Amino acid sequence: MPNPGVLTGNLATWQPGNYYPHVPRILVTNDDGIYSEGLRKLAAALRDLGEVTIVAPDREQSAASHALTLNRPLRMLQLEEREWIVDGTPSDCVNLAVLKLMKSNRPDIIVSGINFGPNLGDDVTYSGTISAAFEGALLNIPSIAFSSLIGEHFSFERCADVARELARWMLGQPPNPEIILNVNFPVSEFQGVRVTRLGKRIYSEGIIERLDPRGRKYYWIGGEEPIWHPGEGTDFAAVQDGYVSITPLHLDLTHHQSISRLQMLEEILGHVAKRS
Ligand code: MN
Repeated sequence: MPNPGVLTGNLATWQPGNYYPHVPRILVTNDDGIYSEGLRKLAAALRDLGEVTIVAPDREQSAASHALTLNRPLRMLQLEEREWIVDGTPSDCVNLAVLKLMKSNRPDIIVSGINFGPNLGDDVTYSGTISAAFEGALLNIPSIAFSSLIGEHFSFERCADVARELARWMLGQPPNPEIILNVNFPVSEFQGVRVTRLGKRIYSEGIIERLDPRGRKYYWIGGEEPIWHPGEGTDFAAVQDGYVSITPLHLDLTHHQSISRLQMLEEILGHVAKRS
């Protein structure tokens, strides 16, 4: 039986016998690109827990969602001993890291972020930060996504401290790669931690229309402050109250309750499908 206790701190004191029988290998990525402060601070904090490898996009890929680059070759460039950039999406980075760079020494956990800006509620489907974590889940590796609201008293260091302790806790748990954790940090001083569900966003911003110097129209999607349905227990309510929000997410998009309700379609459409 492996010892489920938490790690004791740093590499010098690492003892085998945990769920990971070696110094933990931690893959760090993001969607803001290699030069983002959030990635740097996160990687620095996680070095207390194990061997950190950074594989990140060479430029910002926010809202890249779960895209994989399949229509052109990808390039990887090594910057430091355990640091690589990829001219692709966050999901490209995770794939290249796990299936190529770290093929014989797969990461034990994948940590994405810390994103410059929140990834709350319905917005999670657009997020490159969260998709990198989902890519980790698809590759059977426990993964966490970190994002932060940005404001006046904001500090990536404060976020990175909590991120390290959550990663430490996860490394002490039996691996559960089906569930990713989506973490959002509030702007102000943290009041505590709340485990939450996704909130519901009100999509009312519309499209901003402008004219370019040649008189042609162009458009910006979004751009205004998002509005949310108030809801107890949501990620949005937690960060609004000053709490760190942790939302467990999984990739199964099946609406299980609808299966029996829709079963009649097998009858109604079955013979049509058979005929065509
Ligand atoms: Mn981003």
